[in-house]
Amino acid sequence: MYIDGVWLDNSGGDSTAHSTDNSLGNSTGNFPVFNPATGEQIGSALDNTPEQVESAIQAAERAFKSWSATTAYERSACLYKAYQLMLEQKPQLAELMTREQGKPLKAALNEVQYGADFLLWYAEEAKRVYGESIPSARKDQRFWVNQVPVGVVAAITPWNYPISMITRKVAPAIAAGCTMVLKPAESTPLCAIAMFKIFEQAGFPPGVLNLVTVAQPAATGELFCTHPAVRKLTFTGSTPVGKHLATLAAPHLKRVSMELGGHAPAVVFNDCDPVHAAKGLSLVKFLNTGQACISPNRIFVQRDVAEPFLAELTERVKGMTAGNGMEPNVRIGPLINQAAIDKVSAQVTDAIEKGATLLCGGEPLTLDGMEKGHFYSPTVLSNITPEMRIYREETFGPVAPVIIFDSEEEVLEMANDTHYGLAAYVYTENLSRSIRMYEGLNFGIIGINDINPTSAAAPFGGMNSSGLGREGAKEGILEYLETKLGGISV
Ligand code: NAD
Repeated sequence: MYIDGVWLDNSGGDSTAHSTDNSLGNSTGNFPVFNPATGEQIGSALDNTPEQVESAIQAAERAFKSWSATTAYERSACLYKAYQLMLEQKPQLAELMTREQGKPLKAALNEVQYGADFLLWYAEEAKRVYGESIPSARKDQRFWVNQVPVGVVAAITPWNYPISMITRKVAPAIAAGCTMVLKPAESTPLCAIAMFKIFEQAGFPPGVLNLVTVAQPAATGELFCTHPAVRKLTFTGSTPVGKHLATLAAPHLKRVSMELGGHAPAVVFNDCDPVHAAKGLSLVKFLNTGQACISPNRIFVQRDVAEPFLAELTERVKGMTAGNGMEPNVRIGPLINQAAIDKVSAQVTDAIEKGATLLCGGEPLTLDGMEKGHFYSPTVLSNITPEMRIYREETFGPVAPVIIFDSEEEVLEMANDTHYGLAAYVYTENLSRSIRMYEGLNFGIIGINDINPTSAAAPFGGMNSSGLGREGAKEGILEYLETKLGGISV
């Protein structure tokens, strides 16, 4: 853990040569970190105590006074330095991510770049937090409006994008002048530790960015939501946990940002090339082995192009190689743990029992050493109906469920029939239809003939049960700012 500029080891002391601070007390111990492809233990992280979380929050509170008084140019310089360090360490970060989280090395390299992009974007945005003056009805009055940092931020991040979900929160908070205590997912603390080493090297002063790791997150989450010094909680993870934390934070009137689950529809109309659409959807569906909040979870295909679409999709999915992401040509890494395998298996079994057709896959992979990890075969199911669990529940695994539809009106209604509202995809060559779909879909992110509508420069976030607030873009920094009005009599 990294608290107030000091790295802690499990002896209760620090592991940095220059520091002498032993006051943070003993941790209860370490918890192991495993490679989900091989089952091997690849490291361990400290299990925090409530006192350590408390001291991290206090360190962030102390640091806030001086950090919020720095100029935007100073904060920008630290972010830019961290960006450069990330690029320099890209191969090592990506390799660590593949070993800890499982995604293929090429995808890990892409994620490190995506993560670094947020540092660069907010190094620039830090300098563009403008105020305004507002005309008054009174001749002797002037209104002056500024944006000020909200204060200490508590952040909780998931394992599926273990580096970019950190920088997507750290960069705008730091640019705004906030300080932070971050708790990463228990499956991927090593990526978080590597990132905080970069923040240390980048020269962020002690207390500005603090890292607390833990095996059982509930107590840390509760302290984040109830501690008077924490002014904001930013969370990325599942909808049930997000709702729970928002409920805990509500009586304390803390600001919350919630990036939660999704159940993305992807609609393929008969005016597009079904082979091109199948290629695109096979890429986005199986990205990160389906463990992405923007992963398509219902693929709607218009009846007259269903046959060529399904043929191409099945052919491509059958050709995907599963295995250890460190090996070349592997497209499908492991799922994060056995619980994920069980969830995917249960949804597939339920769908087949209720009449779905299995076109390929449909079982855990247990040969050639894969039994040591958590692998599930890339799967295509057709004839999916609303009674099936997969039609409504987030799968977070390598399963493409396909539904056939007839008309635009019908498919718009079906696509919107979910309490989630994160991402949606449309394939059409008809301009008017693409605009009607963009306007009619109740989702925060719409990809039209585009499977990657994400960028540090673009607002990312969901509607309804997919969350509150946006990350990235010019909107992302507003989540860490308060509006402050001055009314001045002259
Ligand atoms: P999760 O909710 O189980 O865990 C996410 C984080 O919350 C982890 O750090 C975990 O330790 C922590 N956590 C869990 N229970 C907690 C509690 N009681 N108190 C405090 N913290 C707690 O989700 P997950 O399985 O790690 O991640 C997958 C989910 O995240 C999916 O639903 C996915 O859609 C979502 N996600 C959303 C986005 C987005 O931007 N909208 C991005 C990535 C992932």
